[in-house]
Parts: sequence; structure tokens; C-alpha cells
Amino acid sequence: MRDWRDHPEKDGSPAFCPRCADDPTLPAPGGDYAYLLGLYLGDGCISFAGDPAKRVWKLRVMCCDSWPGLIQECVAAMRAVRPDNKVMTVRKPGCTEVASCSRHWPCLFPQHGRGRKHTRRIELADWQRIIVERHPGDFARGLFHSDGYRGVNRVRRTWGEGIEHWYEYPRYLFTNNSVDILWLCGHTLDQLGVAWRFSKPNTISVARRKAVARLDEFVGPKY
Ligand SMILES: [Zn+2]
Repeated sequence: MRDWRDHPEKDGSPAFCPRCADDPTLPAPGGDYAYLLGLYLGDGCISFAGDPAKRVWKLRVMCCDSWPGLIQECVAAMRAVRPDNKVMTVRKPGCTEVASCSRHWPCLFPQHGRGRKHTRRIELADWQRIIVERHPGDFARGLFHSDGYRGVNRVRRTWGEGIEHWYEYPRYLFTNNSVDILWLCGHTLDQLGVAWRFSKPNTISVARRKAVARLDEFVGPKY
């Protein structure tokens, strides 16, 4: 507030922004921010809301209608990070867009830029890294809730004289076409002590029983 009163030229909005304040602080609550960052990197985008001259931005996260619990979590995280801005839900075919308008989304998500995320460099700012290191479980939860999946894998093994056996086991997959985002996911899994590997060039797989149990503490099935 003080920053806005003393520097009205910086921004016409009275909404407090932790990043463009004179003494920048970390966005809070850290867990909600880390979760929203994961969602944004997975399935979010930032674009102008209306007339570009007004410099108001819209953050949008697409949520699949199959998981109403995740839509509610996304709404709650957006509201927690920008309590002064309204959060809207817009129904689209098969999905719901969760959106909120603010002048400060690009301050909060400096990964914003032209073109698709996998065509440009995605690096966390130092202050974002601090939050993610403090809240790796929330960050992983956001990533897996947007571009991930927990399901049952079925594999066939043949023993000796054609004796067939089917195995089923739960596993997590995280698919993203940005190498940078894949490595952010892998690094966070390392931090959580979750074993992972690339099952395809664009897919991280967590399949070992212990690793799945560990990730269940933070992510779990979609709901
Ligand atoms: Zn700002």
C-alpha cells in the first residue's frame, strides 16, 4: 500500500505486489505459490486481459472437468496468492478455465513470454527457486496435477514355457514438451527422494513401489 501511495506512477492499482514493492519479498503463502507455479508451468498461460494499453494480465489455467477437486484447489491457490483479485471459472467443452486478472502476474511468473513454453528457455528466478526448495511437495503436486497422471500400469511377463503373467502396479507419469520443465520436475523429485526415469524423451515415470508411495504423500490420485 505504501509503495503505491508513494509511487502512483509505477502502477495505478492499489493491489499489493510482493515483487514490485521497493523491498521485494517472496509471494505468500509459499505452498500455494509453489503449487500455482507448478500448474502454470504445466497448463497455464498469461495474456493481456482486454486492451493491452491497460497493462492488465489474465492468468489462465485449464482444468479437466473429470477432476472437480483439482478445479477447486486451483481456485483456492489463485485466490490465496492474489487475494485482492477475483477468480473466475469459465466452462469450456470438457474443461474449465480458472482465471484471474491482475497487473502483477508477469511479476509473479517471470517465465511469461512470447510463444509456447517448450520453444523458449524456462528458468526459475532465484527467489522462485527459494520457494520451490522450501515447498517441493507443493510444486510437484502442481506439476502432476496439470501435466501428470497417476494410473495403473499393466505389463505382461512370459516365464519359461510360455507361462504368462500379468502384473499391475501404480505409477506416475509427467509429460511435457519443455526439456527445462522436465528437468525442474526431475530436480524436485530428487529433492523429495523420489526415484524417477525418463520413459520417453518427453515423459518422466515414477514406477518403483517406494517412489510411488513417497510421491503419494504429496500428490496422490487426481480427484
Ligand atoms: Zn508487481
